[in-house]
Amino acid sequence: MKEDILHNLKLINTRIKNACEKAGRNPGEVKLLLATKTVSAERIKFALENGQALIAENKVQELKEKYEDLKEIFHTNHFIGHLQTNKIKDILKYDVTCVQSLDRLELAEKLHQRLLTENKTLEVLIQVNTSNEESKFGIDPSEAIELTKKIAEFSTLKIKGLMTIGLFSAETEKVRPCFKILKNLQQEIIHENIPNVTMNELSMGMSGDLETAIEEGATIVRVGTAVFGARIYPDSYYWNEENNNARE
Ligand SMILES: *Cc1c(COP(=O)(O)O)cnc(C)c1O
Repeated sequence: MKEDILHNLKLINTRIKNACEKAGRNPGEVKLLLATKTVSAERIKFALENGQALIAENKVQELKEKYEDLKEIFHTNHFIGHLQTNKIKDILKYDVTCVQSLDRLELAEKLHQRLLTENKTLEVLIQVNTSNEESKFGIDPSEAIELTKKIAEFSTLKIKGLMTIGLFSAETEKVRPCFKILKNLQQEIIHENIPNVTMNELSMGMSGDLETAIEEGATIVRVGTAVFGARIYPDSYYWNEENNNARE
């Protein structure tokens, strides 16, 4: 079991390296984030002990359950799931340093209020729905610049870039346009020169399509299955809390 994780990590790092070479990029520009939903604290710990440092949960409940077991070992926690405003306190309590799934003004406002009270700041990525699928969270690309400008006014929120899930398809060429949309948006936002906004991070690409994402400019690839194996829950369970039906 644990040997599998080691083996898989090696494979993923090779895939990242090869994709970077092909794209003429420095592998140091691409961070591997482990998407740890449904993975036990013990297995996550094993990955952390073997060179990994960046992990992310989709649900506050899982973050909370694994927190004690993981807190002894150095790592960085991001959050990549749909965040409900009543869970904001927990996100901060369990040391999340970056919320990659900021997709609405109301959430930004509530985060800001709480951060002010706790005298903290938080890194965020704006999540964009590049696949035009109802079932996914994220701001519509046409509204992303406006939202970014508004969120930038909250002094406690440090916008670092953009995140997208992209189309769920085995055909990478169908996913590529989603990644291109995110990259183009990044460029447009950079041109806007918005105070309090940096756009260095593009979080896109998962187990099946990380090469395509790297070719299109990803700086963070989020990998679950290819490291920890298949999950029992369908991803829609994590990507859409309002609609827990399995994906078609
Ligand atoms: C689960 C998940 C991933 C990782 O997906 P895999 O296909 O298992 O690599 C990436 N991003 C988000 C938002 C996820 O929920």
